[in-house]
Amino acid sequence: MIPRRKTRQVSVGGVLIGGDAPVVIQSMTSTYTHDIDATVAQIRTLAEAGCELVRVAVPEKRDTEALRSIIEQSPVPVIADVHFHFERALEAVEAGVHKIRLNPGNIADRKQVDRVIAACRERSIPIRVGVNEGSVVERKDKGLRAEQQSGLGGDYRGEMIRLMVAAVEQYMRLFDENNFHDVVISAKSIDATMVVDAYRAISERFDLPLHLGVTHAGPPETGRIRSVAALGSLLSMGIGDTIRISYAADPIYEVDDAKELLCSLSLRNRVEPELIACPTCGRIEIDLIALTAAVRKKLSTIKTPVKVAVMGCVVNGPGEAEGADVAIFAGKGKGIVYVQGEQKRTVAEADMLDALYEETVAFAERVERGEVTLGHGRVNIAPPDPLPRADGSVPLPVVRE
Ligand code: SF4
Repeated sequence: MIPRRKTRQVSVGGVLIGGDAPVVIQSMTSTYTHDIDATVAQIRTLAEAGCELVRVAVPEKRDTEALRSIIEQSPVPVIADVHFHFERALEAVEAGVHKIRLNPGNIADRKQVDRVIAACRERSIPIRVGVNEGSVVERKDKGLRAEQQSGLGGDYRGEMIRLMVAAVEQYMRLFDENNFHDVVISAKSIDATMVVDAYRAISERFDLPLHLGVTHAGPPETGRIRSVAALGSLLSMGIGDTIRISYAADPIYEVDDAKELLCSLSLRNRVEPELIACPTCGRIEIDLIALTAAVRKKLSTIKTPVKVAVMGCVVNGPGEAEGADVAIFAGKGKGIVYVQGEQKRTVAEADMLDALYEETVAFAERVERGEVTLGHGRVNIAPPDPLPRADGSVPLPVVRE
């Protein structure tokens, strides 16, 4: 288990962030917030997928006017994302929102920040101070902007991290002077290494909970790597109390990937099946990639964390599937299904998917009834006899190095 950095704890509508609370998964809607039905529908979909906090954008008054109804219908606490207009924060607080996000890059006026802090204090609402690379350089003061930009020339990376950390420190002084400590901090960049270094620096300076994220990470195909590189590194160091993986895509991918990341690091227990699949190689005799995709889809209805393996041959597959509760070793024309090391069925290629699913459902039901234990005793699947090829020849076992 990765030891977590000790932080203060805040409560967002009853969901705890920091302290000894598990790392919280959050996402953000991509609907117009004033479209109440669309926003509530997306929040429900995200919540069903495992999202524990949802943020909504409130650029206009009609968005904050929609909040009361959205909050009433939302199954999870709602966070208002406020930029430029501090009035939106006051309106969101009035509507009963559970947390406010402020960007120091565009709401910096002391009196305005003081008013937001006072409103949040009155309702015990935490505030996230969310700095990001795109808004940390001064916008209004042209002289200061030119000065900051000229300083970015030589060591852009180092200077940008310094600016981001300085922006957090400067903003946090306003909160300290107001004796307001229900604060979460984020400092996002598009560059994974800058994210790591910025959060490390901030974690050394503050004991407040940290919201991890990579800004503008791109589509899932590339943003996933960027996000895992940054967030996985920080979480492995025990840094991070809530995460939002952000993609230019349906936010459902953010929640799925956040869950997988936390489970992969043992920061969360799985609640759904875990799928292991061989990467395929020159020994493969069926379309295992298609079978794996079909298995993944079908297993999504099961709510027990059974470990399921889909392996492409009987020579190396058993060793590689060790630890799986249910496994199929697929050869040309046939597949053998194992349940916790016991050979259950040999089925025709066309029946592999259904057979694996049926055995997994039956095993999950036995787990739920308390008749068997998941991952019992490091399952050891003895290699079965190699399946004969269509021409009757038998593939030779391959010695693993
Ligand atoms: S299980 Fe068999 S087919 Fe799959 S990668 Fe291993 S050796 Fe290759």
